[in-house]
Amino acid sequence: MATSVETSAGARAKYEPVIGLEVHVQLLTISKIFCSCSTRFGDPPNTNVCPVCLGLPGALPVLNRKAVEFATLAAMALNCEIRETSIFARKNYFYPDLPKGYQISQYDKPLAEHGFIDIDISGDKRSGASGAANSKRIGITRVHLEEDAGKSLHEGFAGSSEQTAIDLNRSGVPLIEIVSEPDIATPDEAYEYLTRLKEIILYTGVSDVNMEEGSLRCDANVSVRPRGEKKFGTKTEVKNVNSFRFIREALEYEIDRQIEVIEGGGKITQETRLYNSVEGKTYGMRSKEQAHDYRYFPEPDLLPLVVDEKWQAQIRSTLPELPEARRERMMANYGITAQDAHVLTISRALADQFESAAKAAKNPKRVANLVQSELMGRLKAKGLEIEQSPISMKGVAVSADLVESGAISGKMLKDLYDLSFERGKDFPEVYEEEGRPEQSRDTSEIEKLLEKVIAENPKQVEQYRAGKKTVAQFFVGQVMRLSKGQANPQMVNELVAKKLG
Ligand SMILES: [Zn+2]
Repeated sequence: MATSVETSAGARAKYEPVIGLEVHVQLLTISKIFCSCSTRFGDPPNTNVCPVCLGLPGALPVLNRKAVEFATLAAMALNCEIRETSIFARKNYFYPDLPKGYQISQYDKPLAEHGFIDIDISGDKRSGASGAANSKRIGITRVHLEEDAGKSLHEGFAGSSEQTAIDLNRSGVPLIEIVSEPDIATPDEAYEYLTRLKEIILYTGVSDVNMEEGSLRCDANVSVRPRGEKKFGTKTEVKNVNSFRFIREALEYEIDRQIEVIEGGGKITQETRLYNSVEGKTYGMRSKEQAHDYRYFPEPDLLPLVVDEKWQAQIRSTLPELPEARRERMMANYGITAQDAHVLTISRALADQFESAAKAAKNPKRVANLVQSELMGRLKAKGLEIEQSPISMKGVAVSADLVESGAISGKMLKDLYDLSFERGKDFPEVYEEEGRPEQSRDTSEIEKLLEKVIAENPKQVEQYRAGKKTVAQFFVGQVMRLSKGQANPQMVNELVAKKLG
């Protein structure tokens, strides 16, 4: 095995990677898929268990209706066709955290098939885009329902240096498995696909897609083939990578490793590999099972699952506006950039907050502008995510209204935003603390500035007096500039009219 992979650009250019992703998502039901045990994360080990999810002989599964609805909703959001009658199957394998000796899953008649996600590849010049120049469609082969297995614990308990413990709280938590077509051509595309997938699932509300808690897990199948070749190369599966960034890194490593093996005259072995994120390398774990190794057969304890047209329509009616559509609408409604729309739609909650603040404000576009011009930069400088912003969307709306009414200037708003970030407090609070700073209403001061502007611009004075009233804005602007934003624009307006009129 190569210890360091330094694949030359030349060798890399000769090959084309083929990537397919399998994503497991835990559904946010209150109880498990085939019993009434709680699905709560973090409870003491083996406290949420019963004969069904412990796999005791004679216990019978009862399907959770909510799990079916969540799975169907997710499949719809991923543009899948729903199969009216799908079949549960037993997938037989031995594992210490799988007490029944089989997992209830779906095999040849899954709940949903033929979906897709459109990903943005404008930042990735290596892939061959089809269709719209910046967008590539990644097919989704299938979405099926299954139960989660338990968890083997190797650390965090007494004796963990010699022993492995089993926690079966997770056994029977409902999962959907989302299998992509091998349409993904680069590690960057894989990253983008996962980001979009996570976002869509989050919008449907069927999962919290929290990678740290294991409610979203991803396995990647990857192979390489000479460019132009139709036949797939032998693939390896990279398993249990716990962040999207690591998946991208693992794929980069694995692609280079495979190219190096082939270039060196070797052969790729079909196997499962684990990624070590500290070393940035993958390691062979076991030779990969083929589907026939699992000896799938229809689950005799469950009836075929029927999601008929009426039920499908009911579920479809709960489908929310999805991120892509929402971004486009928000760009049109508020005049924000595509990039800002991406940030503001990271979660449905944030997008809702932004929109309700923007709508409540006197000028929605000003709210959007302040988010872009004043909020994002400060967040970036502090390394904060928008959810961690000291200034809430409501706070932005309050500040926008104050500028709109002329109560504060743009300069004062900037200062108050700085103070908010320093103090970790929302805008309205800082505004109160600062004694509601008002703009200069000292008329004599402003009159002096205006007289100066009038004296220096006789031509504009003439135009104004000749009836071109829009020139008033020129005088207001000049006075505002000279006062460094401290003058009250409304008052300046009145003074201009008085002095020149
Ligand atoms: Zn149970």
